[in-house]
Amino acid sequence: MSEVVVIGSSFAGLTGALEAKRKLGPGHTVTLISRTADFVYIPSLIWVPFGWREVKDISIPVKPILDKHGVDFLKAEVSRVNPETNTVSTSEGEVAYDYLLVASGVSTRFDLIEGLGPEENTYSVCTPGHAEKAREGWKKLVEDPGPVVVGATQGASCMGAGYEFLFNLEYAARKAGVRDRVDITWITPEPYLAHFGIDGMTGGEAMLKGFMKKFNIKYVTNSEVERITETDVVLKDGRKLPYKYSMIIPPFNGARFVKDSGDLGDEKGFIPINDTYRHKKYANIFAAGLAVAVPLPFTTPVAMGMPKTGFPSEESAKIASHNIVKLLQGEPESSLKAKPWGKIPGLCVLDAGHKEVVILSNHMLKPRQFAVMIPNPLVNIAKRALEKYFLWKTRRGLSYLM
Ligand SMILES: Cc1cc2nc3c(=O)[nH]c(=O)nc-3n(C[C@H](O)[C@H](O)[C@H](O)COP(=O)(O)OP(=O)(O)OC[C@H]3O[C@@H](n4cnc5c(N)ncnc54)[C@H](O)[C@@H]3O)c2cc1C
Repeated sequence: MSEVVVIGSSFAGLTGALEAKRKLGPGHTVTLISRTADFVYIPSLIWVPFGWREVKDISIPVKPILDKHGVDFLKAEVSRVNPETNTVSTSEGEVAYDYLLVASGVSTRFDLIEGLGPEENTYSVCTPGHAEKAREGWKKLVEDPGPVVVGATQGASCMGAGYEFLFNLEYAARKAGVRDRVDITWITPEPYLAHFGIDGMTGGEAMLKGFMKKFNIKYVTNSEVERITETDVVLKDGRKLPYKYSMIIPPFNGARFVKDSGDLGDEKGFIPINDTYRHKKYANIFAAGLAVAVPLPFTTPVAMGMPKTGFPSEESAKIASHNIVKLLQGEPESSLKAKPWGKIPGLCVLDAGHKEVVILSNHMLKPRQFAVMIPNPLVNIAKRALEKYFLWKTRRGLSYLM
C-alpha cells in the first residue's frame, strides 16, 4: 500500500485527490491536507462586494465529500516539504508520502508596493475575507461617492478578475444611482486592453475598447504603480489618480511554504515541472493548478504573469493524478500523459456586469487554431450557470466531469 498526499483543497487539489483515489481504489491511501476546511468557488468572489453573493453561498465543506469517496482529510497548515525524507511538515505533525501532489495555489504580494492591499489603502477580491472587506468599502462609497481606481499592478496575472470587478462595479454604481458621481479609471500592466497575459485574442482589444467607451471608463495600459497614498494611486510615470475607492489585483507568488522547502520551488515559489506535471528534480513530486511555474513565451513592456484559471487548474490536476496512478501501477514512463499548460484549452466566462463575454480557444497560449470571444451584451447568465454547475459537481465529488 502506498501513500499519496495532496496539498490544497481547491480546484486542483480536490480534483487531484478525488481522481487519484477513484483510479487507485482501496489498495492505496490518498490524504488531502489543507488549511481550509471549505472549497470556495473563487470566480464568484467578484460579486461579494456588491452583495450579489454571500461567501457561504459559494462555500462547500470538503470533509464530507472526501469521506464519501474514501480520501482522508487533514486540516492543517503545511510549513515545509522535505523531499529528502519524503515527508510534509504540518501544524498537525509530519505526514509521509510515496507520491506528493502540490496544489497549494498562490500567496498575494501586497507588500511589494507601498500602500497596496486590504491592510493598507486598497481593496482586493482575491480571498473571501478580502471580498467581504471590499463590500464595507463599497457601502461607504455609495453613501459618499467619488472617484474609483480599479486594476492590477505590474507583475499581476489575474487580469480577468480585475476586468470583471471593473464592469460589475460600473453596473452596481448605476444601479445604486451614483454613477454620475463615480469617475472610474482602469489601470493595467497589459500593453493593450484584453491582452490578459495570454497575448490577447482576435477582436478582444476592440471589444473592450468599445466597453470602455460605452461605459465611460478611462484606462491606462502599460501602467506601473509606484505607491498608493490615502488619496491617490501614484503611477511610476508621475501621474496621480485620485480615488475614494480602489480595488487593485496584486502580483502572486507560490504558497509561502514552498519558499521554505529548499529547491522545491523557483525564486517566486512556483513549482518547476515538466509537461507531465512532474517536478523537474524530484520524481515522486507532482504539481498542479496555480502552484506550477509557467514561463511566458513572450515579453511585455511592463511585467505580467501567466493567468491560471480554473479549467486548466483542474486539467493539470487530472493529468498529474493520472500519472501518479500509472507510476503506482508500475506502468512505464511512456504511459504518462503530457500536456504543457499553454496547450490546455482556454475556457472562461468574463462577467461584465449585466453582460458577458465567453472566451474559448483550443490552446491557452499561441499558436492557436481557434480562439473566439463571444459577447452577450444583453444579460449575464453563463457565469451564473457555470457556478451552479460547478457547485453541483463539487458537492457530489464528480471530479472526472469537466
Ligand atoms: C477574484 C478571482 C476571480 C477569478 N475568476 C475566475 C474565473 O472567472 N474563471 C476561472 O476559470 N478562474 C478564475 N480565477 C482563478 C481561479 O480561482 C484559480 O484558477 C483557481 O482557484 C486555482 O485553483 P488551485 O487549486 O490551483 O489554487 P487555489 O484556489 O489558490 O487553492 C490553493 C489551496 O491550497 C491550500 N493551501 C495553500 N497554502 C497552504 C498551506 N500552507 N497549508 C495547507 N494548505 C494550503 C489553500 O487552503 C487552498 O485550498 C479567479 C481568481 C480570483 C482570485
